[in-house]
Amino acid sequence: MSCRSVSKEALVGSVTLGVVFVAGYLFGKNKSSRMSISKSHSGGKDNPLMQYILNHSIREHPVLKNLRLRTMEDSWNIMMVACEQSQFMVILAKLIKAKKALEIGVYTGYNTLNMALSLPDDGVVVACDISEDYTNIGKPFWKEAGVEQKIDLRIQPALKTLDDLLAADQAGTFDFVFIDADKVNYDSYYEKSLQLLRKGGIIAIDNVLWGGKVLNPAPDDADTVAIDKLNKKLHKDVRISLSMLAVGDGLTIAVKL
Ligand code: SAM
Ligand code: CA
Repeated sequence: MSCRSVSKEALVGSVTLGVVFVAGYLFGKNKSSRMSISKSHSGGKDNPLMQYILNHSIREHPVLKNLRLRTMEDSWNIMMVACEQSQFMVILAKLIKAKKALEIGVYTGYNTLNMALSLPDDGVVVACDISEDYTNIGKPFWKEAGVEQKIDLRIQPALKTLDDLLAADQAGTFDFVFIDADKVNYDSYYEKSLQLLRKGGIIAIDNVLWGGKVLNPAPDDADTVAIDKLNKKLHKDVRISLSMLAVGDGLTIAVKL
């Protein structure tokens, strides 16, 4: 699984790491947050401005906070979305009055839960992952937050789920997509998501800077090559309006024209 094979070295350099661990430092009060404090040496603790941003902006539903703290106990917590990035994407979804969202790569479902909490009662997040182990961590929190009925979790390769949705005539019906699974499939996720999206809908693509590796992609580094190729393609893509932001590990926002 590509996401799991990310070298720690690549991500230690990313702002995401600091954000996640600093967030644990700033907002946690229990044992798991003390774990975060010890890990925060690798990033955010040395970044007072990032601490200031988190101190002055993060607003988490209490169950969302508990999911973050639980996720910090997992050895792959490095994969969790940056909380200020998730908060930003939820605001974007609200601005476009999103009802139907797609999460490609769920992990413990921090962003899935955040999105589900913000959608209207008849909203839905189609959540795609191949790991029951990870998503089972999140499920009790989705239930506790009272939004499990808004989360349609599909455990199978995300490409298969996207094909299923297209086969079920759901093209043009989604408002918001977050692409955050295996990087080598990013281009396929993007193309299928674009079909599933309505005009004015948003695709958010995570890790577009890949810890800075996109500056000099090694030819045998399939993940970096795939991300860089997609970044270059989107720059010229006339089907969307585009913004690439230095949030987390790099976040691209594409709005379907
Ligand atoms: N968006 C998540 C969040 O809010 O914290 C983080 C997602 S994590 C970076 C990537 C996830 O993609 C992992 O849970 C992994 O199991 C999943 N994944 C990897 N390959 C996949 C595939 N082919 N189809 C679906 N999910 C996949
Ligand atoms: Ca990510």
